[in-house]
Amino acid sequence: MPSTLIDDIGELVTCEGDDGDLLGIRRDAAVVVQDSRVVWVGPRRQAPAADETVDAGGGTLMPGFVDSHAHLVFAGDRAAEFSARMAGVAYSADGIATTVQATREASDAQLRSNVARLVSELVRSGSTTFEIKSGYGLTVADEQRSVRIAGEFTPEVTFLGAHVTPAEYSDHRDEYVDLVAGPMLDACAPYSRWIDVFCDRGAFDAGESRQVLTAGHRAGLGLRVHANQLQQGPGVGLAVEFGAASADHCTHLSVEDIDALGDSARTDRPTVATLLPGAEFSTRSAYPDARALLDAGAVVALATDCNPGSSYTTSMPFCIALAVREMHMTVAEAVWAATVGGATALRRDDVGRIRVGASADLVLLDAPSHIHLAYRPGVDLVRGVWRAGRPVREG
Ligand SMILES: [Zn+2]
Repeated sequence: MPSTLIDDIGELVTCEGDDGDLLGIRRDAAVVVQDSRVVWVGPRRQAPAADETVDAGGGTLMPGFVDSHAHLVFAGDRAAEFSARMAGVAYSADGIATTVQATREASDAQLRSNVARLVSELVRSGSTTFEIKSGYGLTVADEQRSVRIAGEFTPEVTFLGAHVTPAEYSDHRDEYVDLVAGPMLDACAPYSRWIDVFCDRGAFDAGESRQVLTAGHRAGLGLRVHANQLQQGPGVGLAVEFGAASADHCTHLSVEDIDALGDSARTDRPTVATLLPGAEFSTRSAYPDARALLDAGAVVALATDCNPGSSYTTSMPFCIALAVREMHMTVAEAVWAATVGGATALRRDDVGRIRVGASADLVLLDAPSHIHLAYRPGVDLVRGVWRAGRPVREG
């Protein structure tokens, strides 16, 4: 495969920095890509010859975003619910049932084409690695087809049978948890890398979450937890105790939760605090205390939480802008969280950074610096996207 030189990069964001320069920024740089990998990074005047050249025009080249939390397998939308919420109706997890019904009624082809549409949006806005969860089927057959279809688009597939208890089990919840941790897990594990549980008010309690995580771990899946979105509770503590790759939402944290996430960051396999500010934006709720997490040393990731109920955005640049404006993260912290942070939440070291040997997952911004991601909210600055060395968006 021919090599490609990306030349005249005004600002190269490698995400290979240190405390003084978190993003490892280089000026007047060049990058060479061959096959699916980055093979050279350095000053442009020293760049080796390549078969093809792309002129970055003085723009910003950065790693593709890593969206580690997205619910893309569903049918229907909940625009009316959003509209009502903006008019004052409170958010609850109950709305998920609406999407469950629409998802069960949809054909495989309808689900697949909806995922394809959302994946296209994600990639166009610069996400080159993304996780996809099930969780709107909630029967063995519907969860299995959800993870199967997700696997057509990404290796980062998460089985979320423990999203909510479906209506038909509302009077015997324990039977539903047994189903999730038993036959449903058996049917979904071959198609999944991860298992997730929504441990919160209106979803699953500590005992139920423990049962799901224990069974998922035994089945060889990595662990993730929807934790502390709606109120303080046991979710974050469980995630850290079980060595989950990520505790997601982290909106309502106790001091103990913050300390546990900070302590975990000093181990080889941290439990990442994944913040999903699109959910707070779309439910008009208070944002997580990102500063407390960062000050405690926690590894923080940003993700879209793309789903039709509480965060219907595929845009990581939008989440970066929210993180900076609403959660008081520095622009550098937000960009790091959207790249390296997301990669860490998926326990990947081949993505989220630009270095020799990394996957050539790159985003070219039509902007002189990464700061414009937050400084120019809502503006599509993405001029080029490469996934594994292949251009997927140009111009
Ligand atoms: Zn979620």
